[in-house]
Amino acid sequence: MAIGEVESLNRLVFLGTGTSQGVPVIGCPCEVCRSNDARDQRLRTSVMMESASTRLVVDTGPDFRMQMLREGVTKLDGVVYTHEHKDHLAGMDDVRPFNYMQKATLPLHASARVEQALRRDFHYAFEERRHGGVPNVEILPIEDHGTVQVGRLVLSAVPVIHGKLPIHGFVAGDLAYITDASALPASTLSQLQGVEVLILNALRPEPHYSHFNLDQALEVAAQVGAKQTWFTHISHLMGTHETRDATLPAGVGLAYDGLVLTREGVNWVTSMSAWRNSMRP
Ligand SMILES: [Zn+2]
Ligand SMILES: [Zn+2]
Ligand SMILES: [Zn+2]
Repeated sequence: MAIGEVESLNRLVFLGTGTSQGVPVIGCPCEVCRSNDARDQRLRTSVMMESASTRLVVDTGPDFRMQMLREGVTKLDGVVYTHEHKDHLAGMDDVRPFNYMQKATLPLHASARVEQALRRDFHYAFEERRHGGVPNVEILPIEDHGTVQVGRLVLSAVPVIHGKLPIHGFVAGDLAYITDASALPASTLSQLQGVEVLILNALRPEPHYSHFNLDQALEVAAQVGAKQTWFTHISHLMGTHETRDATLPAGVGLAYDGLVLTREGVNWVTSMSAWRNSMRP
């Protein structure tokens, strides 16, 4: 149900690429958690998507505030949610500065279950007589295979299985973003055929009941056959960025916080956002 003029996605920033505890993990003495390589510091998983005039984020995890500060974001048109787990939801309260700056309600696109979680966890934002200073948000529904329009950017919501939970991934033109998946329905796999860029979760080498491990993620990457595949939602158990990334096949890489994908003509080119550039390993 696209309304008005629609723009294509032309920039994506990895705001966070870590699993639910982030990397480093508090108190962990492992090689990855003690690494000096800035790519081994992963905030909780989220991306920012931009068209010429629209900017959205997918999920507002516990690191949302730091992610907005790091990227110097001063305008945000909406949030699109994959699912209700805390590592994807916990930062919603920090949308308030955008309310103040934009003097507007921020749209949150959410499935019925995510809506329930938002209304429970942030009940004070949805009460009839709200205090000043609470998030000013409205919840708009996401349906399986439905379209999600934020400003002039339109995404398709694709169903994804996360353990026992049905959640959503998103396709924007020739780019797909899927996190926290442990299986993809056939309808979603067929919708991914032909994408140029696949962003997909890969937790660690060992199996896990609700996340693709590395081998499963590589198998999906091969089935989809995108020109570029980027893994995200990465645990410290994946090994250091440098050593693991070197083992991956051509066209497949570990994403890292601050990695930027920009459309140039028909190609997607990679770069680093300003803050990441300033702390190269
Ligand atoms: Zn997660
Ligand atoms: Zn560790
Ligand atoms: Zn999850």
